Amino acid sequence: MIVITNKNVSEERIGEIVQYIEKTGVKAHVSRGEDRTVVGIIGQAEPTLAEQLRQMKDVENVIKISKSYKLASRDFHPDDTIIEIKGVKIGGEHMVVMGGPCAVENPEQIDEIARLVKAAGGQVLRGGAFKPRTGPYSFQGVGVEGLAMMAEAGKRHGLLTITEVMTPEYVDVCAEYADILQVGTRNMQNFDLLRKLGTVQTPVLLKRGFSSTYDEFLNAAEYILAGGNPNVMLCERGIRTFEQYTRNTLDLTAIPVLQQLSHLPVISDPSHGTGRRELVEPMSKASVAAGANGLIIEMHTDPDNSMTGDGVQSLFPDQFAALLKDLEKLGELVGRRFDTEKAPAEAFATWKK
Ligand code: PEP
Ligand code: MN
Repeated sequence: MIVITNKNVSEERIGEIVQYIEKTGVKAHVSRGEDRTVVGIIGQAEPTLAEQLRQMKDVENVIKISKSYKLASRDFHPDDTIIEIKGVKIGGEHMVVMGGPCAVENPEQIDEIARLVKAAGGQVLRGGAFKPRTGPYSFQGVGVEGLAMMAEAGKRHGLLTITEVMTPEYVDVCAEYADILQVGTRNMQNFDLLRKLGTVQTPVLLKRGFSSTYDEFLNAAEYILAGGNPNVMLCERGIRTFEQYTRNTLDLTAIPVLQQLSHLPVISDPSHGTGRRELVEPMSKASVAAGANGLIIEMHTDPDNSMTGDGVQSLFPDQFAALLKDLEKLGELVGRRFDTEKAPAEAFATWKK
């Protein structure tokens, strides 16, 4: 249930409404919008509460919400959520690009890639130190040392960092090193992990499970929000369909649907969404055209020799830079803008394919 207040209602009055609600044994969540304030009610409200609230001064309307997720819902929070990390804004009209290798391999690799992500105008360096591999004999990532390598490279080149966390026990150490924690597709419904992520304030990029519905996806986000961490981004990274040509099917429809259902920023991952380098550029553009708030893209200086199989879907640095230039122009048409500058082409001169 949500309570919509009249315009220009005072803070004091909102406080009284919250008190009235909480006295009945449920929780109230206040969302202040540009225009009006919405008070969401979480928990099993008494049947008479809606009618009592409707009679109150300064209450414009009371609407019953049947969705199982509340805090993730746009009904509860009509304005776009904008997450600000060290001056970088994610959500709304701000366009963010996260680029980097599938896995952190060594200090030189991550440092050179960080330099090239920054030069292209990206704001976030991606890289896995703990890799969720389908087979137990595949490279599993370099672990905590990789976190330190990436943090160092991010700091040196003025980039935020994002890395995947796979278990609740590693949330604190990953949060110590990285600015954003990624939950991978295979862990979208790892509820212990989600609960733990609710106890920190580090922003989380939650990837959609490859066989999950929008409803399941938003309920997974709700776990983190309900735990007390409001900084959640949703990431469409492709779903499993009957098609075998691509690694996954990037569900572009998810972008506007999730933005209708939720206020959380929506990021697209065309690398895992397609699994093919030549499709990353068109699907990045399609994602921005569909309204994505940002992209997470694999980029590698030597993809043929990358330590995970994801070299085949990694862009070369010059392709990454060219793509970001085009996205800037495309963004103008769809109300998305980069807040960061791109370096002149010479920044790429020392890198050779
Ligand atoms: C990744 O980002 O490298 C990754 C493993 O992603 P996903 O969980 O979407 O497969
Ligand atoms: Mn990968």
